[in-house]
Amino acid sequence: MPELPEVEHAARCLRSWLAGRTIVRAEVEQSRVIGPSAPRTVAKALTGRHLVKLERRGKYLLFTFDKGQGALAHLGMTGKWLRRTPDDPPSHSRLRLFLDDGAVLHYRDPRMFGLFYLEPAEGLHRLRPVAQLGPEALDPKLDLAEVLRGSKQPVKVALMDQSRLAGLGNIYAAEVLYQVRIDPRRKAGELRPAEYKALERAIRQVLKRALKLQDVPEEITYVEEGGDNPFQVYGRPKERCRRCGGKIASFTQAGRTTWWCPGCQR
Ligand SMILES: [Zn+2]
Repeated sequence: MPELPEVEHAARCLRSWLAGRTIVRAEVEQSRVIGPSAPRTVAKALTGRHLVKLERRGKYLLFTFDKGQGALAHLGMTGKWLRRTPDDPPSHSRLRLFLDDGAVLHYRDPRMFGLFYLEPAEGLHRLRPVAQLGPEALDPKLDLAEVLRGSKQPVKVALMDQSRLAGLGNIYAAEVLYQVRIDPRRKAGELRPAEYKALERAIRQVLKRALKLQDVPEEITYVEEGGDNPFQVYGRPKERCRRCGGKIASFTQAGRTTWWCPGCQR
């Protein structure tokens, strides 16, 4: 499932694919991904546009095109941007941008939890889902003790709360807690000062490692799609912990599966 590193990868790809290009035509399927706008309206608004800038905020992509046209996009659970030749379309393509270099950019999303909403470019940062995001997980000035202050939520759940901290999801929250040996059930507001500092470092390390792994020019395969599993605990129930030899366990927390090592996370 896409989290900060995967969304950042999508942003880097899209910036390079769209640099200096014009969208000569767009095709948009009727689906909940494109929101309340009619497919025809979206296609028309994108035709003739070029990208001015593309920002990532948390797990959102903020597109600014010329003529003040903008779009807010999210990859949801299975979304992915792909560049293909016209004769090689992927399945589940919800939106297609035909570029003046002959390439076709597809937004592919089998489960359709993602979105691509047309919005005026100047108002993108004021949109509610963007305005309510907490600080970026990779912000060098991140103060986790402040971010989690007073939280009675389990620390794993609080780390995934985008209004506290933007960018971490189920996978990376589990991975950073494993790295610092913290039990995911502990109360987020009650860690020791040294533990907040260690968590800040772990977040940077784990996300930067993921960004490096994904420093590939084209498509990445999500681990749920059968890609390599580079993670220490995520998706490894009953395997041995590489640190203490104990068994990796999983349980449900706020409706999501949490993986951890009961042997060395306290
Ligand atoms: Zn262990």
